[in-house]
Amino acid sequence: MSDERILGLKVDVDTRRGMEEGVPSLLATLAEFRVTGAFFLSFGPDNSGKAVYAMLRSPRFLMKMLRTNAPGLYGWRTALYGTLLPAPMIGAALPDLCKRIEGEGHEAEFHAWDHRTWQDSLLRKKAAWVRDWFDRGVESYEKCLGHAPRAFGAPSWLLSDAAVAAIAGYEWDYLSTTRAGEPFILSGTGLVEVPSDLPCLEEVGGASGVPRILERLAGGGVHVLPVHAEAEGGIWREPFREILRGAVDLGYRMAPMSEIAGLCWKKELPERAFRLERLPGRAFPCAV
Ligand SMILES: [Zn+2]
Repeated sequence: MSDERILGLKVDVDTRRGMEEGVPSLLATLAEFRVTGAFFLSFGPDNSGKAVYAMLRSPRFLMKMLRTNAPGLYGWRTALYGTLLPAPMIGAALPDLCKRIEGEGHEAEFHAWDHRTWQDSLLRKKAAWVRDWFDRGVESYEKCLGHAPRAFGAPSWLLSDAAVAAIAGYEWDYLSTTRAGEPFILSGTGLVEVPSDLPCLEEVGGASGVPRILERLAGGGVHVLPVHAEAEGGIWREPFREILRGAVDLGYRMAPMSEIAGLCWKKELPERAFRLERLPGRAFPCAV
């Protein structure tokens, strides 16, 4: 295994600003390195401002936002969307940009309808709400891109039993919804789950954390790096380029997520249920 060196880039787009400013910036970076990424897009309302309610409930989340320079990452307008400013649509309002991602040779997949609401209240939502969230999101995806999505990546790597049941109601080639250490078949879906096994920059302290990510790559193998359009397409553009340069120096080939999923389908993978766990550097539990 360790002579294989493959890196998947899973880019999440969570906000309007991440879509409008982060995506074009990342497209430029990926073009410079001539590599392919998989963009997991949010389509519906950007309710980022509602995070303020989550901060009031969770001091840990407030500390994380301050520690990671959230205003610098997301901008002050984003901090008011869905509260003092109306929530703008993300992918649904920018179909040309959605198409441009595929036009430049990358993969565009389904990440969210309303990212913020999933992140803050999925665990309290019943099956009908979750199904409606998927129906709206997938319909919007198809309108923007002209075909069905092939993969789903859950917002904030958060899952519930109702979410797993809803996922099983659609056709997917693979999932990328957890932070597990290695791929597995997600119980209840029969689908390959290709987790983001590396930490994201945000979790290792931003720019200064690049060496920690490269250390993880030094051992070789197949890895998936989680990237956020808001961060690596914004104030952490340079550290992201450092990671790409480092990965190339270590002999990595950047592969599309669909190719990594294809490699996984060929293996005998264990079937496992997800469980929620708090990872270092994250304010809320993630599925592993
Ligand atoms: Zn996300």
